[in-house]
Amino acid sequence: MSRKLGSGKLVIATHNAGKLKEIAALLAPHGVDCISAGSLGLPEPPETGRTFVENALIKARASAEASGLVSLADDSGLSVAALDGRPGVYTADWAERQWFEGEPGRDWYMAMGKVEGMLQAKGSDTPREAWFSCVLALAWPDGEHAIYEGRADGTLTWPPRGTMGFGYDPVFVPRGREQTFAELDPEEKHRISHRADAFAKMVADQFS
Ligand code: IMP
Repeated sequence: MSRKLGSGKLVIATHNAGKLKEIAALLAPHGVDCISAGSLGLPEPPETGRTFVENALIKARASAEASGLVSLADDSGLSVAALDGRPGVYTADWAERQWFEGEPGRDWYMAMGKVEGMLQAKGSDTPREAWFSCVLALAWPDGEHAIYEGRADGTLTWPPRGTMGFGYDPVFVPRGREQTFAELDPEEKHRISHRADAFAKMVADQFS
């Protein structure tokens, strides 16, 4: 049994307005009032962990210590079985395009191609199983914490298909479906995703 949030303010340790909106909508029915670490001017700590749990905890703890309020952080990514779980916590880094026409940024096609290239280099019969992970960490200012881990299993396809979603969605076919995450209706993706799994576990533990 973990400590309960109760109603009141919860800091979402993200500077991403989209994430805050999505999380706030999920928790509003439970009387939780979400505010973002960005709006409080809290610094973003470097994600130096080697696992999703470590990185989510680093973010949640930094926010709880700086704000004096309970904080929630998430960390997510794609793991490929035949690549020993890579890219894992480096999922976003694999898309980092250093300097292209003067603009730093992320190139998801390049990142998906890198994963595919590594798989193909291992031979045509290499298993294509992969999974998305989402870890949610709740941290209280006194140091207590709770962790919820979500997962979506599937296989990787090539070439990429679909225009919805983001990141590695066009190459990920969730188990039991034929469409990629980027071809599925977004509502359908949100029902079966790693994030949905992690939030369902948190809501069941915190509010049931
Ligand atoms: P972060 O948790 O915001 O640091 O995200 C890590 C990276 O994982 C993202 O930049 C995406 O590339 C990837 N990722 C996480 N969730 C998804 C998803 O649902 N679809 C596609 N890519 C995802």
